[in-house]
Amino acid sequence: MNKFKVLVVEDDSPVRNLITTTLKTHDYLFVTASSGEEAIMQASTCNPDVVFLDLGLPDMDGIEVIKRIREWSNMPIIVISARSDDEDKIEALDMGADDYLTKPFSVEELLARLRVMQRRIALLTSEAGMGENTIYTNGQLKIDFVARCAYLNEEELKLTPIEYKLLCLLAKNTGKVLTHTYITQKIWGSSWQNDVASLRVFMATLRKKIEVGPDCPQYIQTHIGVGYRMMRVDG
Ligand code: CA
Repeated sequence: MNKFKVLVVEDDSPVRNLITTTLKTHDYLFVTASSGEEAIMQASTCNPDVVFLDLGLPDMDGIEVIKRIREWSNMPIIVISARSDDEDKIEALDMGADDYLTKPFSVEELLARLRVMQRRIALLTSEAGMGENTIYTNGQLKIDFVARCAYLNEEELKLTPIEYKLLCLLAKNTGKVLTHTYITQKIWGSSWQNDVASLRVFMATLRKKIEVGPDCPQYIQTHIGVGYRMMRVDG
């Protein structure tokens, strides 16, 4: 059986032990690293399916680790950080992290994030076999659901997996207001307070990529206290 392998990068041994014990209990394989250099080495030699990455490492910033891994791999990276500033999260996401967890986190939350990545990988594998040609267009925005690529003005957008998922969810429901709870359920399979906060961050990074003026968004409209809606835009 091909078990899911997780690389746990964390220099704080109690936290690392909590994560590895949780993984072991739930039948995941894991390897660990307690520094940035070790993390990069393990990422390249152990072929993990997912990386849990602490940002505060003794030898280098976790952001640097993301940058180095992204030079050669798209492996999913979930940042675990005590930094709760939106700016740090945005920086990590911009550097290519796929998702993040804020410390302190619950083991349930950690497992939920991991399941999201597993589902995403399973979906990628199953969709790769489909011959269906489904294209969404709205104004200058185009999504190729089969190639899993999005374009703006014919230029490919560099979206993280969650941004892409979010864009597809809104696009498939163009014209409808989707509530925060609905969106977080669809994206993360849960709707913790943290997820709603994450949603705001992902929405901000997504908008930066698709909106000409993020202050007066053309595509994604905010309904304060309710949710978001993809608007139909004239081509
Ligand atoms: Ca640390």
